Amino acid sequence: MALALFGVASSCAARDEEIVTRSAHHMGTVVTLTVAASDERSGVRAIERGFAEVARLEQLLSSYRRDSDLSRLNAQAGTGPVRVPRDLADLAHAAAAVAAQTGGAFNPLMGPAIKLWGIPQNPRVPSSEELQTLYPLIELSGLSVQRAQGTITLARSGMALGLGGIAKGYTADRVVEVLRAEGIRGGVVEISGDVRAFGRGPGRRPWRVGVQDPRGDDVPLMAVEVGDGAVSTSGDYERFFEVDGIRYHHILDPRTLQPTRGLISVTVLARRAIEADALATAVVVMGAVDGLAFVERTAGVEALLIDEDQDRLVSSGWPVPAAPPVPVR
Ligand code: ADP
Ligand code: MG
Repeated sequence: MALALFGVASSCAARDEEIVTRSAHHMGTVVTLTVAASDERSGVRAIERGFAEVARLEQLLSSYRRDSDLSRLNAQAGTGPVRVPRDLADLAHAAAAVAAQTGGAFNPLMGPAIKLWGIPQNPRVPSSEELQTLYPLIELSGLSVQRAQGTITLARSGMALGLGGIAKGYTADRVVEVLRAEGIRGGVVEISGDVRAFGRGPGRRPWRVGVQDPRGDDVPLMAVEVGDGAVSTSGDYERFFEVDGIRYHHILDPRTLQPTRGLISVTVLARRAIEADALATAVVVMGAVDGLAFVERTAGVEALLIDEDQDRLVSSGWPVPAAPPVPVR
């Protein structure tokens, strides 16, 4: 579900800044691009280029498409180095770095476990014996990225690189580069719960981004002002199923191979969406105590954590929520 994006009504925009917004379905979700442009036509043209970039990256990075470069890589797991396009090598490299930075809480090799849980198509609760056999396939040492050669090696057959926890953020950052190259000086890229803003919004003010309420409807919990930065929310509410009143969802704890418990939602602010996206997923895995400690010692990152009792915890630099916003749409 897309985060609501807020700003003042576009009639308040400076004369040379027309606010143009378009949405489209990509990456299994809604992608919304908003730009401040000199006129509607140039705004729409830039947005079209932005959507083309999303489509290009989806074809490389999707786990759902059997003909994606990622799927082709995974089909060759255990056969040595596989040549991949530059974006895939770069993103795999970044994913491995976040895995190391988070002590393995973020693990881009969870694919076989996610498949066993049947998330999202055929959900079921696997036995612990079944899960046990997967540990060798999610060992981070089994992933190596030879960035200079443009190759990736998955050491064992059955391993699968999955970029679901980081690809939307990476894509949002790439789209910002495309919009900038089109001459756009301010805009917002929303890919479901991953949002990246740059430049200035209506009235030359920072953009306002709504933080999704994990148990609410479309009304955001609060709005935060973002200049050049990113906001990502991860939680147990995006993709889940329930058996006997227990909620099983799509973020797995690499230690137990079970869906995480404790935090229902984590929102991370960071400079880049790739970082906000991956760290939001990682902090959900870490839980409240370790997650908050991690955020406090990581420069340039702030977070809002919501636990099962709906209690909110914020890091020391979490911004004061912006004044009640006026919805654009
Ligand atoms: P969303 O897809 O709702 O934006 P996330 O960014 O949190 O949410 O990514 C969740 C996805 O990341 C899952 O669907 C799965 O593909 C993958 N994933 C699950 N557990 C982990 C984990 N521990 N580390 C990294 N990726 C994970
Ligand atoms: Mg994420």
